[in-house]
This record gives sequence, C-alpha cells and structure tokens, in this order.
Amino acid sequence: MVSIKLEGIVKKFGNFTALDNINLTIKDKEFMALLGPSGSGKSTLLYTIAGIYKPTAGRIYFDDRDVTELPPKDRNVGLVFQNWALYPHMTVYKNIAFPLELRKLPKEEIDKKVREVAKILHIENLLERYPWQLSGGQQQRVAIARALVKEPDVLLLDEPLSNLDALLRLEVRAELKRLQKDLDITAVYVTHDQAEALAMADRIAVIKEGKILQVGDPDEVYHKPKYKFVGGFLGNPPMNFIEAKIEDGKLVISSENILDIPPQYREIIKKLDVKEVYIGFRPHDVEIVREGKEGLVGEIYSFEPLGREQILTIFVNGNVVKVFAPEEEHFRFGEKVNIKIKSESIVLFDKKTEKALE
Ligand code: ATP
Repeated sequence: MVSIKLEGIVKKFGNFTALDNINLTIKDKEFMALLGPSGSGKSTLLYTIAGIYKPTAGRIYFDDRDVTELPPKDRNVGLVFQNWALYPHMTVYKNIAFPLELRKLPKEEIDKKVREVAKILHIENLLERYPWQLSGGQQQRVAIARALVKEPDVLLLDEPLSNLDALLRLEVRAELKRLQKDLDITAVYVTHDQAEALAMADRIAVIKEGKILQVGDPDEVYHKPKYKFVGGFLGNPPMNFIEAKIEDGKLVISSENILDIPPQYREIIKKLDVKEVYIGFRPHDVEIVREGKEGLVGEIYSFEPLGREQILTIFVNGNVVKVFAPEEEHFRFGEKVNIKIKSESIVLFDKKTEKALE
C-alpha cells in the first residue's frame, strides 16, 4: 500500500487551466474523496494520479517514488469509472480475468485470484453470466473486482455509483466503504455528491475551479468551512447565509434584526478590518421561537415535511433561510417567527473574499 503526494500539480488543456497548483497528500490506507461541482477538475486530478494525464507542472509521488513520468501500467493503480464498461461479449469471469491474462499469468494463478476477489465482492455465483444478465449494482461490483484483481496499490474511483438508483447507491456505498477498510487499500474517490463524500471518506478535498479550497475530515469540512463555497456545497439543505454589517460590535442585518457577535469571533473581529460579512449557520443549529422576541424575525415562506422533521423556508430580510423543525409543530404560510441561532455554531465569512474569518 502507498501514500500519494501531489506537489504543485498544474494541468492545462491549451490555454485552459484545469488544475491550478494542487498540493495534497493522501495517506496510506486513507479513503480520500475529491468533492466539487461539475467541471471543477476532479476527474482530471484522478487521471493525473493514474498517469492517464501527464501534469503540465508538478510532481507526483507514491511513497518516496517519483511516478510523474511513469505510464499508467507501471503505477499499479486500479481504476473504476462511472460507466463501468465491462466487456459485453465476455462472461464475468473473463472480464475479471482479463487484466491478468494481459499480464500473461499462468492459468491456475489467474483462476485462484479471480475466485478470491469474486468472493470478497460476493459475486462468486455470477461468474458464468454476461454483463447484460446483471443488475446495475452487480455490474458495478464486477468492475470493482476487475480493478482489484491486479492487487493495485491504489484504488481510483470516478463517480462509480452515479448510474445506480438511489436505494442501491446507499447500499453499495456502505459496501464499498467496508471493502476499502477490509482490504486496507489507499483509495481516491471522485464525486460531486456531498452526502457520499461525507458518508464514505476519511478526508475530503473540496475542489473548485481547479483549486483545492479545503482538506479535512468530514466533521471539520462540514462544521468549519473555510470558504462560503464549502459551507454552501456541503449539507442538504446546505449552510444558510445572511448578509450583515459590522457596526458598534454588533452584526446588523436590519434595524429590527441585530445579533451579538458570537464569542468565538470577538477578538478576531477586533483585529480585522471587515465591515460586511455573511453569517453562516447550519439548518439544524436553529431554534424556532414562536412566543417572545428572542432571535431574528422572519416570515415562513413554506414547509416541507420529511417524516421525522420538516424543513421550513423562512425569509429574513430578503435572505432565504432553511431550518429544521420538529414534525409535530404546525406553521402557517406568512407566519412571523423568531429564529434563534446557536451562536457557537456560527461561521462568519468576509463578504468581499468569501473566506471564513480567522
Ligand atoms: P464532472 O463532475 O462534470 O466530471 P470534473 O470536476 O470531473 O467534472 P473535469 O472532467 O476534471 O471536471 O474537467 C475540468 C475542466 O477541464 C472542465 O472545464 C473540462 O471542460 C476541462 N477538460 C477536461 N478534460 C479536457 C480535455 N481533454 N481537453 C480540454 N479540456 C478538458
């Protein structure tokens, strides 16, 4: 198994910079998610690690070995793509055996390895079938088996679950996470699905426009976003943002909506010359107050029951805010409510740079 170190990786396609100075270390046996919107450069980064793309600048190390110039076949990586592209005219057995046949291994050894990996992925009973005789989830497992049979040092996955329906995705995602831990293999997993990244990864690298904005474990990236973009990309619904001015040591949203500066920001704000901020907070970090005057005044725009709880959409001085409330509470359209935000959960972002204050 190996760790992966990316140093100053730049990838240009003509004049377009797809990766802009990427520095990232993926630890041995770690499950790293590359998370970002469409076109942010996730796949380009994965293919650069695989050796399919050569970086325009920068170095790639597997442990201490510089692999920057090595072709994919000499990097010993297993790749799983979004469209698994199993060979349609080959049985499952043949599909899995194929990479080993290319390596010209003896027949008995191939047979042993195919059966071993099929067992791990619970597809032993499917070996004689053809891809069209398999469900999406089964095809996906075959594709993973084919990547694993070469005993790669690193498993690279590019949105491997995106062709599965919602329920199957949840199931396979749990299996895949378990498998990665059982095999103790270093894995890099590209996804635009924040829930998938939060659920599966040891750490998440959030990518936007070819740059890594933040790397951290799921808890850190979720609760302590370093950029407004990160807060707004993770969570469902994502983090809320309310615009405010800093005046006389208060957060002023409007004449009726004024908040104290949260204790964790008092010293920081004194040091910085920031006049306008976004107040960021998660939909669960709010209490709805219907009697009394505590908190921010808002107006209920809509509510969506989810079973155990409901999501309220509330307008606060023109800012759309989504919060969770217990399902038993009944609200009316247009009702005025007060929302009390847990001050310790607030993250403040500079309105100009959209960076979290620190
Ligand atoms: P998605 O989730 O949609 O796959 P992504 O984050 O994986 O997106 P990439 O596929 O890495 O994004 O693409 C990043 C950017 O680089 C995009 O703007 C894309 O158009 C561009 N790009 C990718 N491959 C090439 C290529 N071979 N030639 C030119 N531009 C490319």
